[in-house]
Amino acid sequence: MNKDFYNPVEGISRDELRKLQYTRLQKTIASALNVPFYQKAFKALGLSASDIRSLDDIIKLPFTTKDDLRNNYPFKMAAIPLKDCVRVHSSSGTTGNPTVVLHSKNDLDAWAELVARNLYMVGVRDTDVFQNTSGYGMFTGGLGFQYGAEKLGCLTVPAAAGNSKRQIKFMKDFGTTVVHIIPSYATRLAEVMAEEGVDPKKDLKIRILAIGAEPHTEEQRKRIEELLGVKAYNSFGMSEMCGPGVAFECKEQNGLHIWEDNVIVEIVNPVTLQPVPDGEIGELVLTTLNREAMPLIRYRTRDLTRIIPGDCPCGRTHRRLARFQGRSDDMMILKGVNIFPIQIEKILMGYKELGSNFLITLETISNNDEMTVEVELGELGTDNVGDLKDLVKDITRKLKDEILITPKVKLVPKGSLPSAEGGKAVRVKDLRKLF
Ligand code: ADP
Ligand code: ZN
Repeated sequence: MNKDFYNPVEGISRDELRKLQYTRLQKTIASALNVPFYQKAFKALGLSASDIRSLDDIIKLPFTTKDDLRNNYPFKMAAIPLKDCVRVHSSSGTTGNPTVVLHSKNDLDAWAELVARNLYMVGVRDTDVFQNTSGYGMFTGGLGFQYGAEKLGCLTVPAAAGNSKRQIKFMKDFGTTVVHIIPSYATRLAEVMAEEGVDPKKDLKIRILAIGAEPHTEEQRKRIEELLGVKAYNSFGMSEMCGPGVAFECKEQNGLHIWEDNVIVEIVNPVTLQPVPDGEIGELVLTTLNREAMPLIRYRTRDLTRIIPGDCPCGRTHRRLARFQGRSDDMMILKGVNIFPIQIEKILMGYKELGSNFLITLETISNNDEMTVEVELGELGTDNVGDLKDLVKDITRKLKDEILITPKVKLVPKGSLPSAEGGKAVRVKDLRKLF
């Protein structure tokens, strides 16, 4: 076996990995049983730690949900005394009240190791200049990438979110080579570069982007890569697991390796909660294997994805997750059809005349649920009204083929829709009367 791995654990055999997982699972259970919530949950199932005799017994364990975390807000999920916790983070609160996560010193070290491992995997080295455009503070994308890149030895630029002109100035002045950025902000930043007369391919040295924190399509990734002249790798994380670092694409750009020395991965049917076969889409359920302050058992992430069956040519043995379809909460049901924003993005990104920002509005009009898709025109947009009409027609037809209903498509001038300056993009406005 080659290989240039940051940590040899990336290439260990599946058997060894399973053994490691089982040992760590037992530790996780023992420590979770310090938490009243888990004591009760085990009792309700008539379960004790000794009932878990192999990894396959994981299905006997109780699930943990976002609501469980909210009900135990803020610190009731702690498995160690608060004096041994050194940091608290919270989720962005995209879909409701934020959830709170505690970390011990070892938790923070393990987290930084994961982020460093990911960056190393895609070719980042200590000679790189790493700029982080995530908000610092409670959002884990800031400090998470900061400590990971420092651990790897990069020169780090903690630029934080927003202020695009300053971001570009730092990129130029400091010779930034690697950037962590939310995909919707990457396309926005490319627009500001164009406005400022900066050609990223000539005037900047960026070669690698870590993009994540929100769902995006392959088409969006390609667009970002072309606009900025970089390789962009998908980064998945969530504050409940630590933050960024949970899963990351390797250079193959075909699925995200989820680090199974760090979590046990299950994909379940969100309704029956039964495991689905590899390759089938379901809800990602994760059990932490390395967390001291706040171990989580079978945490229902609400993120929908699937396992990519088969081995990865890179030689890493940890399984790969397919690009995320979105959260179960993102799913829109319109006229009985299930639709994800990502399906709409996929079609829109296929048009070079269009920009990257779009907004889906759902409304009840004369007792019918209707969808309007507003999308910004791009640099190559045309002013010819005839051409625009044809474009709208074509987009509408392609959207109908994809989502099975006919939306109203509106082309709007560049910069006219709200844009996410470093925060997660809001793609759907639901104004429907639900009753
Ligand atoms: P919040 O759930 O409030 O947004 P977090 O900041 O912890 O809080 O975000 C984690 C969530 O962000 C994940 O559960 C997932 O829905 C989304 N996410 C993170 N990375 C990706 C990615 N690469 N692709 C798709 N969705 C992602
Ligand atoms: Zn790989």
